[in-house]
Amino acid sequence: MPQIRKVWEWSSKTSNRSYQTIKYVDDTLSCNCPGWTRHVQPDGGRTCRHCRSVDMGTADNQANACKDYGKEKIKKQVRETLTPMRVLDL
Ligand SMILES: [Zn+2]
Repeated sequence: MPQIRKVWEWSSKTSNRSYQTIKYVDDTLSCNCPGWTRHVQPDGGRTCRHCRSVDMGTADNQANACKDYGKEKIKKQVRETLTPMRVLDL
């Protein structure tokens, strides 16, 4: 499991759910919205409006919240690696 660099939180426009887009330190993205989890592109890749927003650099303004895990936080995560990751359990 790569370390998380940054997390954006979004509220759904059509329900009261909220979604999280995660950027890992290797620059890969993941999201838990239906667009990401259900739709796979013909080339096997995945994307969603949240990840596109991250790619375009507009996510910081458009998301409800974002948490930027700087290098210090990443070190802290390493020290806490024995605790389960709960970021997707919200
Ligand atoms: Zn998404």
